[in-house]
Parts: sequence; structure tokens; C-alpha cells
Amino acid sequence: MTMANAFGSDDFNRLSEAEQAMIARRERVLGPAYRLFYERPVHFVRGEGVWLYDAGGQAYLDAYNNVASVGHGNPTVLEAISRQAATLNTHTRYLHENILTYAESLTATCPPELSQVMFTCTGSEANDLAVRIARTYTGGTGIIVTSHAYHGVTSTVAEFSPSLGPNVNLGIHVRTISPPNPHLPAPEIEAAFAREVEAAIDDLKRHGIKPAMLIVDTIFSSDGVIADPPGFLKSAVAAIRQAGGIFVADEVQPGFGRTGDALWGFLRHGVVPDLVTIGKPMGNGYPMAGLIARPEIIADFGRNARYFNTFGGNPVAAAAGQAVLNVIQQEELVANARAVGAYLRTELAEYINRSPLIGSVRGAGLFIGVDVIDGGKPSSAAAARIVNGLRDRHVLISASGPHANVLKIRPPLVFSRADACCFLEAFDATLKDVV
Ligand code: PMP
Repeated sequence: MTMANAFGSDDFNRLSEAEQAMIARRERVLGPAYRLFYERPVHFVRGEGVWLYDAGGQAYLDAYNNVASVGHGNPTVLEAISRQAATLNTHTRYLHENILTYAESLTATCPPELSQVMFTCTGSEANDLAVRIARTYTGGTGIIVTSHAYHGVTSTVAEFSPSLGPNVNLGIHVRTISPPNPHLPAPEIEAAFAREVEAAIDDLKRHGIKPAMLIVDTIFSSDGVIADPPGFLKSAVAAIRQAGGIFVADEVQPGFGRTGDALWGFLRHGVVPDLVTIGKPMGNGYPMAGLIARPEIIADFGRNARYFNTFGGNPVAAAAGQAVLNVIQQEELVANARAVGAYLRTELAEYINRSPLIGSVRGAGLFIGVDVIDGGKPSSAAAARIVNGLRDRHVLISASGPHANVLKIRPPLVFSRADACCFLEAFDATLKDVV
């Protein structure tokens, strides 16, 4: 059988027989669309806090998984889920206290304009719903996204997720723009990005397409992690509104405290979006997502189209979401993300002078991007060697960006300074090996 995952034979041979058998079974039963992480994939059986344990009982430091943001197996979230699951789990067509309390808690974390919530199960569904709402509200169809964005898997959303690659067609109403360029002088970044949005608006109009929305992941994860300077989204947001479109902040990655300055990435930029899509860490692994909206944006949509999502916003989901918010607040995880993230970035920046492979270090809070270069150029091969070298030292990260050369360091928000030291030790040893 041809393997969808192209492991080198050496990597494959280094796996145990049991792991080799699991890979073959996966390919047989899951088909060819799935990809595993790492040249030598890992088989985890348990997680606790920032640690994942493989089948042999070995611990791995998780510096990658943002879903379990309040920690793998968080006892507060588990207790909330199991208590509610044992009591009642229905859906949003009955009255239930949890969904109201949770929606009120969520909107309380936002500027007052963002006062209504709709629930889905995945970030893709949230973005799919955002498109329908944007099109109803604006009467337009055009969508502007960054050139290596990822927004999800539904057929509509895949059409504006260019990072899925050249085999996944973009919609005819979709225009891609360059993301903010972190290598420009900081004062030029905002205007340059706004010019990209304006050019896309002009191009849509020239083709008779009315703009419906500009959607950005406010930390530009798959475009290579771009957070600075704070405020750079302002002119772009003004431009889309000027053209009759709305601004959708995809907070699936930066939301729930990751950027270390506030609960939401858009707040870093001093803008109030028209719609905010949320997901991933929302239930710490319980599948839940949704959107937060300005009421005037969803008014027509809601009047004209009934909305029901069987699992979205059910009482267990609402209990999980509320527990996550409570833990973030009680354990001051936004401040932790800020402090530990700043420490990690400072320490990592030392390698710009120390290693020819490290070009720059970016990010906000516990979302860090490290440019890997070789001969001054982006190097996906060197990035892959670092990612796999860390994996061999039992530390988990990944790489992203259009050249797949940006190390993506995005641990659970409970990552402590001691965990950061442990990460840096492995990073140092890996770089020495890779050079
Ligand atoms: N938006 C962004 C920015 C994402 O990173 C993702 C998931 N990686 C999604 C949307 C889609 O979320 P889901 O996988 O829950 O559908």
C-alpha cells in the first residue's frame, strides 16, 4: 500500500513494531487524507497539565497544543463536564440556565458592542456561519483573506483557506492579500496592509463583486505569526467598512488569552470587529465554537433564517466553556501567558546572534514564531530538523508560514517559567545538533 505519510525508511524503522502496525492500520481505515506529525510519529495515551505521556510512559513537554489551554485533563473542567453530563444534556431549543450564563460571561469579556453569541461545534462552522451572516448583512459576496490563511474545512470556508494549498480551489469571489509584513519598519506596516485590502476591494469591484467581508486570524498563525506593532489592523478594518463590507476577527487561535494582553487578539489592535469567531481552546478539548456579534449585524439573518445547531451550545458545552473562563480568570492565565511568553521570546532572541539558523523571533504572549533561515533565506528543511530534533528530546512544537520555516511555539496557557526553562534547554541542545 502507498503511504499518504511519506516517512523516510530510517524514521519508519526506528518506530516500534506496534507503532508501525498502527500507522498501517490508520492508512487502511482512515484513508489517505490524514497526516501525522513528525518524521517519527508519537503515540500518546495520557495527558496532564503541560505533559503528554506516550505508550511507554515517557513524558513529553507540550509546547504546541492550544486546545488544552488550561492544561490537559484540567480537573475543574472535567468536573463541570461530568457533573452536567450526568444531570442533563439536551440542546438549545429548551430553556437552560447554562447557555445564558455562559453567553453572558463571554460577552462580558468583550467591548459592549459585541453583545450576542451564536454557538457551533467547530471553528469551521463558525466561519461558515460568519460568511452567511456577512452576505446577508452586506448584500455582497466578496471575501478578502491573507495569502496563507487557514479558516476551516467546510466547502465554503475551504474556498477562503489558501493554506490548504494549490489543489484546493479558491472561490471566484475570494481575493488573497499579503499579510502584514513583519520585516517592514513598524510605522509602515499598518498602511501597507491597508493598501493590500484596498487593492483587493478594487479588484473585486472591477469584477462586479461587492465585498462582504475581510476576515483575518488576528495573530496570523498560518501566515507565520504576526503580532506587532499593536494597532496595525485599524486602517484595514476602516477600508473594508468604507467599501460596505464587515470585519470578521477569527479568534480561533489568538482568543481566550493566548496573546497575553487580553482575552482577545483584536483588542491588541484597538478595533471592535463586526463578528468574532471563536473555537479551539473554548472547551479545553470539549468540541465547541461559536461567534460573538454586534446585534445589528445578525438581526436580518436571524429574522430570515432559523438557526439551530444540534450540539452547539448544549448544556455540557456551556458548562465546559464556563469552567474554562473561570480557570483562566482564577489562575490569572492571561498574565501568565504575558510573563512566560515574554521570557521565552527574550531567551529565544539570544539565538539570533548565536545561531545562523535563527532569523527573528516574533509573537505575543504564548504564541511565538521563530524564523528559521539558512544562508539568510527561509529554510523549511532546517525548521523540520529543529521540530524533529525537539521531538526526539520529548518537546512538542511545529512549523508554519508560507515557507513552513516558522517554528510555532504555542503551549497550553498553564506553561510555567520552569516549563519554559525545560523547553529552552532542549532547544539549545537541538540547535547544537542541527547546525
Ligand atoms: N480558524 C483558524 C484560525 C484555525 O486555526 C482553525 C483550526 N486550525 C479554524 C479556523 C477551524 O477550526 P476547526 O478545526 O475547529 O474547524
